[in-house]
Order: sequence, then C-alpha cells, then structure tokens
Amino acid sequence: MQPGAVLEIDLGDVAANWRALASEQDGAVAAVVKADGYGLGALPVARRLYREGCRHFFTAHLAEAVAIRPEVPKAMVAALNGLWPGDAALYAEHDVRPVLGSLGEIEDWSAEAQRRGRRLDALLHVDTGMNRLGLGAAEVERLEREPERLRGIVLDYVMTHLVSAEEPAAELNAVQARRFAWACARLPPARRSFANSSGMFLGAAFASDLARPGAALYGINPVPGRPNPMRPCVRLRAPVLQVREVAAGESVGYNGAWVAGRASRIATVSVGYADGWLRSLSNAGQARFDGAPVALVGRVSMDLSTYDVTDLPGVAPGGWLELIGPDMPVDNVAAGAGTNGYEVLTSLGRRYERVYIGA
Ligand SMILES: *Cc1c(COP(=O)(O)O)cnc(C)c1O
Repeated sequence: MQPGAVLEIDLGDVAANWRALASEQDGAVAAVVKADGYGLGALPVARRLYREGCRHFFTAHLAEAVAIRPEVPKAMVAALNGLWPGDAALYAEHDVRPVLGSLGEIEDWSAEAQRRGRRLDALLHVDTGMNRLGLGAAEVERLEREPERLRGIVLDYVMTHLVSAEEPAAELNAVQARRFAWACARLPPARRSFANSSGMFLGAAFASDLARPGAALYGINPVPGRPNPMRPCVRLRAPVLQVREVAAGESVGYNGAWVAGRASRIATVSVGYADGWLRSLSNAGQARFDGAPVALVGRVSMDLSTYDVTDLPGVAPGGWLELIGPDMPVDNVAAGAGTNGYEVLTSLGRRYERVYIGA
C-alpha cells in the first residue's frame, strides 16, 4: 500500500521537558493537555507524565477531562472553560474540578456541594486582563463581602492567565501580577496558580504554587527570540510520490501560484491542508531532505504539497521529506505559515500514522 506521512511523537522528550520545567520551580508543575494534548494525543501524554510524577492536569472541556480521568487516577484533573449550567453533577461524578469563572458558576457548584452533603473542590479563575473568562474586580469584591457564596466549596487554587507572557517587555505582565495579588488578598486563603509556559521564564514575580505549562512541554519555544530551552518531540515525515521535470515558465499547482524560473524538479508529497499542513504555507514553507532545505512551491492543496528539489538529485519517489523535526522546528513551520507553533500542532490531521516513542 502507498505509504502515508508518519507523525512520530517522542513522549520521552515530553517527559524530559516536564522534568526540566519542574526542576526549576519551587511550586508544583501541571500539564495542560487541552485540545488533545496540543494535537499530540492527550491520553498518551497524560499517561506518560503521570508516570513521571505529574499530579495536576488541565483540559479545556469537561469531555476532555473525563477522557483522561482514568489514566491519572490520583491526580487533579481540571477543566479550564468553566462550569456550564447543568454540568455540575457530571463534574462531581467524574471527579473533575471545574475552574469557576463567574458568580453564577460558583452558585451552581456550591449548590451541587449542598446536594451531595459534602465539600467539593474547585479552582477559581480571576480575570486580570485577558477579558475572556474569570471573575472581574467587582465580582472579587462581591465575594469578599459575601464569602458565604463559597459555602461547600474547597478552593484548591485561585488562578489567572497571562496575556503576553512570551513578551517579557509587555507592561501588562506586571499589571496582571499586581491585580492577581490584589484579588488573592480579598479571597479566602488558597494556593495560587499563575504562569503558563512563557510565564515560567518571567521571573520570581510570576512564580506560584502551580504553574500551568502546555506549549513548552510539546517543544514550542517559550522564549521567542532566544534559543529554545525545550526539546523538540515531534517528527513529521512525508513520502515523495513523484518527482517531475518542470520546464522554465511552467507553473505548479492550483492557480499557477508558482512559476518555474528555470528547468526544475518538483517533488510531490502526500500531505495537504486536510492534514493540517496549513494552506498559508503556500510558497512559504520549507522541508528538509537529508538535512538540506527544500522550498515549498505553489499552493498547498488538500492532499498534496510540492517542493522544489532541483538542486537535490537524491530525491526520488519513495524517499521522504522531513516536514517537522530537529532541523525544522515547529516554530519555524509556524513562522512560514504566519502563525504560532500552537496552531501548527493543534492542526495536525487525523490521517497520519502516529508513532509514539517512549509510551
Ligand atoms: C492554554 C492555557 C495554558 C497553557 O498555556 P501555554 O502557553 O501553552 O503554556 C495555561 N493556562 C490557561 C488558562 C490556558 O488556557
């Protein structure tokens, strides 16, 4: 059978990244495994990191949390996107902690605790500048005046989320640290959870009892513009289906978006935008053949993309181009596509043969 592209995920490297982050923290370090572990597989990632000693996991959705729950029996599993009306019983039944982000959500969770006649754990999300989810300042003051609203709720952590953690010069970072301290001083005593991946590199003012890295675990550079301290853990290889001779002046692919300026050899590989090989990589992406760079030419189509291998006579059908790997980091792919590594990873498609190393 014609081979498809192969996506290799080295869980040993994910574990090494978690250990490296954990070793530089006084507090605990969670693993964010939302969006199927940033596209790499929430279950295998959670299972591996649990074995490594990780005891706090975050997803975005309740369903994602329920899916990993059996893999991490003694760990905290929390869902970041808040408590939807009517979902409280499901959270409690599956031992998933909601991240409460409004007075209404607090009311629902408190009511669930009363129904069950026991205290229920939760995290509290304070908004300090993102303006997406979480309690605003007025709601924090309301809770300070009316602490009985939290009846039956064990506040595991109070958390907030940084807006521009990957930009150390952003003024909002320090503003958020101040607002977070202000909010925590008004809430019942609880442990704090602050930094995401990049936030862990911002210094002591962003340390907390529980850091919440996602991207850095998966090898995305948490300190853009500086050498990546994390290990790459993804390798994506695509088989060459054909190598064609294209005369000068001929175009390649849809709408003739690339025209050969000289007699060229074009390698066609079986990865397209349906595989998450973003269409914005058209005429912009790069791959590697035996370490040598080859340019993506023309439009990325649904199932195929085309590379100029004119200067690499060794490229032949049945050979492989490396689309992501140690020589072609996710962050570089992202730069070619005009996006970030998060979007590249979470876009990776379902058609790849997935190979887990170190599971
Ligand atoms: C996604 C997310 C994280 C992890 O962020 P990274 O930049 O991937 O480390 C942490 N906290 C919250 C609230 C998030 O939504």
